[in-house]
Amino acid sequence: MLMTAEKRAASQSRRTPPDTARGSGMTLFSNPDFDGHEAVHAFFDEATGLKGIIAVHSRALGPGFGGCRMWPYESEAEAISDVLRLSRGMSYKNALAGLSYGGGKAVIIGNSKTDKSPELFEAYGRAVDALGGRYITAEDVGIKVADMKAAARRTAYVSGIGREGSQVGGDPSPNTAYGVYLGLKAAVRHKLGREDLTGLRVAVQGVGNVGFHLCRHLHGSGAEIVVADVYKPNVDRAREAFGAEVADPAAILFEDVDVLAPCALGGVINAETIADLRAQVIAGAANNQLGVEADGITLRRRGILYAPDYVVNSAGIITVAAEYDGDVTLDEVTARIGRIHERSLAIFERADREDRPTSEIADQMAREIIAEAA
Ligand code: NAD
Repeated sequence: MLMTAEKRAASQSRRTPPDTARGSGMTLFSNPDFDGHEAVHAFFDEATGLKGIIAVHSRALGPGFGGCRMWPYESEAEAISDVLRLSRGMSYKNALAGLSYGGGKAVIIGNSKTDKSPELFEAYGRAVDALGGRYITAEDVGIKVADMKAAARRTAYVSGIGREGSQVGGDPSPNTAYGVYLGLKAAVRHKLGREDLTGLRVAVQGVGNVGFHLCRHLHGSGAEIVVADVYKPNVDRAREAFGAEVADPAAILFEDVDVLAPCALGGVINAETIADLRAQVIAGAANNQLGVEADGITLRRRGILYAPDYVVNSAGIITVAAEYDGDVTLDEVTARIGRIHERSLAIFERADREDRPTSEIADQMAREIIAEAA
């Protein structure tokens, strides 16, 4: 019997870690997500139950910089695949954002709702510190500012905690959302020929830290918002604040909307879901939205404009990198985030000129920057 698109999406989202559907039984070097990563470190602390992996993909542009994710991976192989993909994504994101940082990422295997303790994050801080600055950490899914503050008691290689007397830094999510909004507007302009969002319908999958702030910008621009989240309090918050329409989490990808903004999980745009998408534009915060690279080709064939995730969600790393550098003004951070709009447009235009997927163009541009630095 054929599964409906909604059921397929629901069954995937139940079992899949945030950014990869791959990984069972794979080792490191033969893993399809291994991309010549410079180093992969496992860390363990018996006293606190800390268990995780730090991957440094490339340091051609500078130390590996990227967030730490806490997720209850079903297997170590899933965690390895996730950290490999995410760290490569950070290399590309940092390169295209013009930052002097390479790509790195950390995953902690655990449940962020039940397994956290300040001691666990202090132990994590020690694991980061042991790498002597080859990797700099910050927040990602499942991690709060307080967790990184605990890590900061054991290492200086941490950001996203704010600095006393500085307006730059802290929780990157509001800035990430603003950057996504700029990229989304660029995509609407390119695909729909519209300078404003008035009356456009936008589906937001996941109204957590970033999704909620994105809704604020969309609402302020006159867009109609449809939201879904598996965590009801977040749905209620978006409905109350912005009058958002609420959809079933299993159906949100397939809503009759102009724009789809995935702001929850990775891997949601894939061979199973693309045929049933109704949006003309995809622009959201989630990392690694495409299941595999070839999904970019399918999207192009279907005439759906995909705003590459790591291009439009780069304001978070722009913010925490500025905090870490310590000498960047708020105006400069705002200017760097503002460039997401023109960078997105440049990618869309080149993709049309060369009749290639936007995801492929972004990857190529990033690889060129990294190769030149190396
Ligand atoms: P978050 O955990 O605060 O929010 C994610 C939301 O998605 C949660 O409310 C969760 O309940 C919901 N969700 C989970 N599974 C879902 C499903 N199947 N359907 C609908 N909703 C579901 O995380 P966040 O910080 O807002 O990040 C969102 C995405 O953006 C992640 O992929 C993250 O890697 C990416 N990202 C975040 C930042 C940042 O600054 N926070 C920066 C760059 C990229």
